Amino acid sequence: MNTNEFKNIAKKGPDDRTAIDLGPVGLGGDSFVIFAGPCRVESRTQIMEAAQGIKEAGGHVLRAGAFKPCTHPHCDWGRGETALRELREAGDTYQIPVITEAMSRSQLPLVHEYSDIIQIGTRNAQNYELLRELGEYPKPTMLKRGTWMNLRETLCQAEWAYFADPARGVSGNPQIFMCERGSVHFNDHMRWTLDLAMIPSFKQVSHLPIIVDISHGTGGPGNTAYYRDLARAAVAVGADGMMVEVHPDPARSMSDADQTISLKEFAGLVDAIRPVAAAVGKQV
Ligand code: PEP
Ligand code: MN
Repeated sequence: MNTNEFKNIAKKGPDDRTAIDLGPVGLGGDSFVIFAGPCRVESRTQIMEAAQGIKEAGGHVLRAGAFKPCTHPHCDWGRGETALRELREAGDTYQIPVITEAMSRSQLPLVHEYSDIIQIGTRNAQNYELLRELGEYPKPTMLKRGTWMNLRETLCQAEWAYFADPARGVSGNPQIFMCERGSVHFNDHMRWTLDLAMIPSFKQVSHLPIIVDISHGTGGPGNTAYYRDLARAAVAVGADGMMVEVHPDPARSMSDADQTISLKEFAGLVDAIRPVAAAVGKQV
């Protein structure tokens, strides 16, 4: 691969790494950063309870959707600004930064206003108009890899969001990080296949941090049984963090219930990661 084509995101040397300040925790340094929370903000009570449990268990960032990219048009599209307000309140109350998705350019101003970190979902991984717009919203921004995208396309995704060209009116966002969230495949035992080899592959070329979403990266009934091993593998393979769906009452989760764990299971998961993190010189 010709890495010269990635002018902004390619490493300038073997030790070139970008660290992104997420407030109480830094991403891309010696910390393994844990992003956890429900698929969506369902109510004020639900997100407050989730925030408290996640913070107590050692989670670093609270995740939850306000605008939901629904595969099926008849599902609930999310509670928009009401949800954003509740997510902000939960983050402020429990002193934990929050991340939520913007699906379109029109949603970016609101998400930027309420959220500490902007999430661009897998379905928009090649929406170059949207990626180019991120320079106008100078906050840490997580790009989820497209389920169909190879390494070059994934690097291009990050380069699009990062790149600045005043002559063409593009400002660029240098606080970009990536998220591996599973690819399309031929399996039928999970919805997507987590591609852990993307972590060293991406890091070989780019100085940007990359995390692993073990929930959307597997999906489907029974797959939470893999979380412990996959999370430990993510730490060992050099990921800068991970994302997992956690709900105070997983069975009642309005979406992605199959891939969601309880607060108690989450606490066990964090503990299971600690020895592996220590072995590779990372803090949890
Ligand atoms: C999510 O994290 O809420 C989500 C919808 O994930 P993805 O874009 O990877 O499907
Ligand atoms: Mn989800």
